[in-house]
Amino acid sequence: MSTGAGPAEKTATRTTAPDGQDAIPSESVREEYENLADLVRKYRFAYYQEDAPLVSDAEFDTLFRRLEEIEALHPELVSNDSPTQEVGGEVSAAFAAVEHLQRMYSLEDVFSLGELEAWLNRAEASIEKLGDGAAKAAWLTELKIDGLAVNLLYRDGKLVRAATRGDGTTGEDITHNVLTIKEIPQQLNGDSFPAEMEVRGEVFIPSQAFAEFNEALIEAGKAPLANPRNAAAGSLRQKDPAETAKRPLKMFVHGIGAREGLEARSQSETYALLKDWGLPVSPYFEVLERREDVLAFIKKYGDQRHKLLHEIDGIVIKVDDFATQRALGYTTRVPRWAVAYKYPPEEVHTKLLDIMVNVGRTGRVTPFGMMEPVKVAGSTVEMATLHNQDVVKAKGVKIGDIVVLRKAGDVIPEIVGPVLNLRDQQDPPVRDFVMPTECPSCGTPLAPAKEGDVDIRCPNAKSCPSQLRERVFHLAGRGAFDIEALGWEAAIALTQPAEPEVPPLTSEAALFDLTTEDLAPVKIRREKRSKGVGTGEYELVPYFYSKGTAKSPSKPTATTEKLFKELEKAKAQPLWRVLVALSIRHVGPRASRALAQAFGTMDAIRAASEEDLAHVDGVGPTIAAALKEWFAEDWHREIVDRWAAAGVRMEDERDESMPRTLEGLTVVVTGSLPNFSRDEAKEAILLRGGKAAGSVSKNTSYLVAGESAGTKLDKAEQLGIPVLDEDGFRLLLEAGPAAFAEAAPAAADTAEAVEEDA
Ligand code: NAD
Repeated sequence: MSTGAGPAEKTATRTTAPDGQDAIPSESVREEYENLADLVRKYRFAYYQEDAPLVSDAEFDTLFRRLEEIEALHPELVSNDSPTQEVGGEVSAAFAAVEHLQRMYSLEDVFSLGELEAWLNRAEASIEKLGDGAAKAAWLTELKIDGLAVNLLYRDGKLVRAATRGDGTTGEDITHNVLTIKEIPQQLNGDSFPAEMEVRGEVFIPSQAFAEFNEALIEAGKAPLANPRNAAAGSLRQKDPAETAKRPLKMFVHGIGAREGLEARSQSETYALLKDWGLPVSPYFEVLERREDVLAFIKKYGDQRHKLLHEIDGIVIKVDDFATQRALGYTTRVPRWAVAYKYPPEEVHTKLLDIMVNVGRTGRVTPFGMMEPVKVAGSTVEMATLHNQDVVKAKGVKIGDIVVLRKAGDVIPEIVGPVLNLRDQQDPPVRDFVMPTECPSCGTPLAPAKEGDVDIRCPNAKSCPSQLRERVFHLAGRGAFDIEALGWEAAIALTQPAEPEVPPLTSEAALFDLTTEDLAPVKIRREKRSKGVGTGEYELVPYFYSKGTAKSPSKPTATTEKLFKELEKAKAQPLWRVLVALSIRHVGPRASRALAQAFGTMDAIRAASEEDLAHVDGVGPTIAAALKEWFAEDWHREIVDRWAAAGVRMEDERDESMPRTLEGLTVVVTGSLPNFSRDEAKEAILLRGGKAAGSVSKNTSYLVAGESAGTKLDKAEQLGIPVLDEDGFRLLLEAGPAAFAEAAPAAADTAEAVEEDA
């Protein structure tokens, strides 16, 4: 937070000596302050001038905050060239310098809802003090686009200049590059625009285009770009506009600078005018009067963060009324009438300590990075997959590098790439990753499954302990047998315990024959903890049984009892789940459901010809071949036979009482429904003879759209496919399209038309 920034002075963070005077900074405080200021300048240079940050935004923000804290305690340290008094960024010699007609500012940041509330309290108090002249606070609330700020100068409706923000006063002339962005008009529409006007906005790369651009880079053997913001900045600051033209850049405007004769009283009115004149205004903004609505806006877009057109790093809240904006004014760095609420960071920097390999369920050997544990998007991360050796190479990471680690929402953490400018400073020096030639789990020589494959595999599928562990973990998963008590650690304990030498499971065939006694001797190696913290020392502990004392003998734990109960329950799971549990290559829930529906029994699937299998809708030749290959192995058939002998259900009972209301219809479910999980909705469709498809096409009969439905909903609307909510879905399930036609004739008509079309 800036000293003195915000609608009122922030006395809360400022402490004074007992006599009321500001405390005199000690030598060590001075030194810390100077070092911090230097560091912030260095990081800003790398970020703004080189588009190659040395630290993550979160780390930078923490340093910047500390600097502000010290300044709040010791205002005498603040000088004109203090980083807190400047809008970050300078002008590179590679571009002509241009003066903005009106200064450009940064934004004050808050990092929690508590801080935001405090800011709003101060802002509202300041507005109140302005008296009758000021409008009641109405907050123009909009997305904080993670891109690069630009200033467009229009004279008589013609775009005459475009510049970066630079230091706020002087920016870099990037007119030629901006002219390559199609949606930025070179001539404004109509004739009501001001004679002269500076339009401010953010240039960005849409998330999807960024992902595709990076994929293309990786395919071409080049290192991917770290994030859309740096990519947008790097793209706009190219010397050759032809290079900029190749980048998928877009812009949204979010402000206005100097203007002559603009007839608007507020920011939102201005947006409407800018839109009429042909400028790209973001569709995501609202003017909100109530604070709870502002908070709801923050929550809504926090949840949808990764489904939007572009990356956002927060929400900007601005006083809408221009007169009030003017009355509140500016600090040297930020407006007092606006604030940026930042979401928790999703991108951090950490050290890549090692690259190890994991042997997966199908024997695929996957390198993964071990990192210094770091908090990102709300959880601590220390491992991230690197997929295969080509990806390691394409990302350009070496062991010992500082790497950019990203975890977007619930998405799996990803190592984006190295921070190259820090590579030389690493101690010990960085080294290349070398893919092992033998399986780290069973010692079998590794090889690609077939010539030309990028992935290498351990061919010892039957007895490689790592592959078995992964298969056991998989078969217990929610999409297979759904055995909650058989998690990752239990899978290790069953297949790779520290003791006994021969594990209780050497093949999943024996899973349903396990007895409680089999598990009594199992011990695993576990780190000793002291007050909840790891000590670095390890001990062997029984996993399935309690430790036991002289008084109470060792006995199965509650979780072990639960495991056996769940195993018993798993035996009654429907056939498709048993198929998923077998870890047959390419056979996931979709194909398994299709197979179970088409054949009804495991025996029929096993006996079917490759051709018959391939003909099943949702199966196809690759899966059919994988099935035949799988059943050709003796030890695979033994798994099925032993599971069947133990009582696992190998056929589906058809519920003949269930009316087949959806016969011949294809239904797609998207978004989240209040009373159906995705699996339950699919099951309900299949049970009634319908087809549950994953994507919308002209063959789709209905789209069932729940909360946060995304692109599928757009597509269905484009194609005129009827869209149902949960109530509509229930109606369809119960009575099929005919009865549905009575309730919603238009929707049913379209469904029929689509069916005919198909
Ligand atoms: P900022 O990015 O936090 O906020 C100000 C900018 O937000 C404006 O200039 C504008 O361009 C942009 N913006 C996006 N959407 C907007 C909207 N709807 N309305 C108004 N403005 C909008 O501030 P900054 O001064 O540009 O940069 C500071 C931030 O940059 C830091 O918080 C840090 O995260 C990052 N940074 C990182 C490093 C690093 O080394 N990683 C170095 C310097 C800065």
